[in-house]
Amino acid sequence: MRDVSPTPKSEHYRTIIVGAGPAGILTAYHAAPAGSTLLVEAGLLPRYKSCGGMLHAHTRRTLAEYAPIPDDIILDPRTVLFRFHDWDRKIKKVTSLELLNVDRALFDEWLLGILPPSVEIVAPCEVRSLTQDAEKVSLTLRSGKGDMILTCDNLIGADGGRSKVRRDLGVPNTAQYVTLQDFVHLEGPIEPYFDCIYIRGIGEDYAYTYVVPKGDVADIGCVYYPQSKQPWLMQNEIVRILRAAMPALGETVTRQACTALYVRSVDDVVAGEGRILLAGEAGGFLSPTSGEGISYAVNTGRLAGSAVADNDPIDAVAAYRKASSGIRTNIARKFRWLPMMESRAGKYVAGFVPQPIVSRITHEL
Ligand SMILES: Cc1cc2nc3c(=O)[nH]c(=O)nc-3n(C[C@H](O)[C@H](O)[C@H](O)COP(=O)(O)OP(=O)(O)OC[C@H]3O[C@@H](n4cnc5c(N)ncnc54)[C@H](O)[C@@H]3O)c2cc1C
Repeated sequence: MRDVSPTPKSEHYRTIIVGAGPAGILTAYHAAPAGSTLLVEAGLLPRYKSCGGMLHAHTRRTLAEYAPIPDDIILDPRTVLFRFHDWDRKIKKVTSLELLNVDRALFDEWLLGILPPSVEIVAPCEVRSLTQDAEKVSLTLRSGKGDMILTCDNLIGADGGRSKVRRDLGVPNTAQYVTLQDFVHLEGPIEPYFDCIYIRGIGEDYAYTYVVPKGDVADIGCVYYPQSKQPWLMQNEIVRILRAAMPALGETVTRQACTALYVRSVDDVVAGEGRILLAGEAGGFLSPTSGEGISYAVNTGRLAGSAVADNDPIDAVAAYRKASSGIRTNIARKFRWLPMMESRAGKYVAGFVPQPIVSRITHEL
């Protein structure tokens, strides 16, 4: 584990990055060669992020350029295929989308280890406020030792879906999905799929469920639309339905609640303003259709880090906006699938779409 201290050593840095998730880590990696770099994390490190821990080929391809993903963070089964599952009509469509099955906490810890020693890391330490002018960005940090004021030439908000940096930049409030994950004991084998299940009759606030084996537990994750009422009651019902049909799904070990950005327009995808850049989920960079976000985090992180390293601080946002425009376009392309994915009629019609077409579309989600 890297050296982590609760307070920063200096009062001014060339680059400060807020958030030690995949976006923040890749940003810090690329910003570091250009000068002093501080990575600030509000939580304890190594951190825990509620997640399915499924790595898309895009993530694996990017990370292969830094270090091989170690075997000891990969769970059994090592890979799973994405499968669509209309629960009530018993329609199952296996796709060719293969996902690597990792322990997300170990993955984040391993990723932190790729950082060069020149990156200073502080945690737990929270960014409480920030302002910027033509010369610099000023921010207030709060740690167990009190509040400090720091300045930097560029600041990168990589602070996730509930980003403080995004809000302080004045980006209009973006709605959030509610996610609940039950990690349950596995009393026997279940099919080795990332099973994306839609169950009728749960309610209008319910989007979908996924079930995936992860070593000796299974992850039963459910996604609920913003403003959903009492999602835990729906979660209880879904887990009950699944257990009745799949006796291998045992007792719940832990239930986690989290949120994710409900990106519905390209206006929700924001590169930054002035001297402040937004990377990963803080910038709205995640798939609006599948919720897959790690590949977007690592890819925008490295673009943001390179933009601050290769440009005058005042030009970094423009350079990053240009470099990330392809990713923004990729997100915009996915919006066209939303009406089908989110309507009852669309979900019903999907059951009649031939398997090869379902497989092909899945690669675009
Ligand atoms: C239930 C669930 C399942 C998911 N499953 C998958 C999956 O299987 N595969 C996939 O690719 N994606 C998945 N995602 C999405 C993925 O987890 C995120 O998109 C990804 O982690 C985003 O990375 P990030 O670095 O942008 O932000 P995060 O990983 O959210 O990291 C942000 C960091 O910023 C820190 N922070 C926040 N505020 C402050 C502050 N004020 N000061 C300092 N630090 C701060 C936080 O503590 C956090 O550590 C899932 C998401 C959810 C909710």
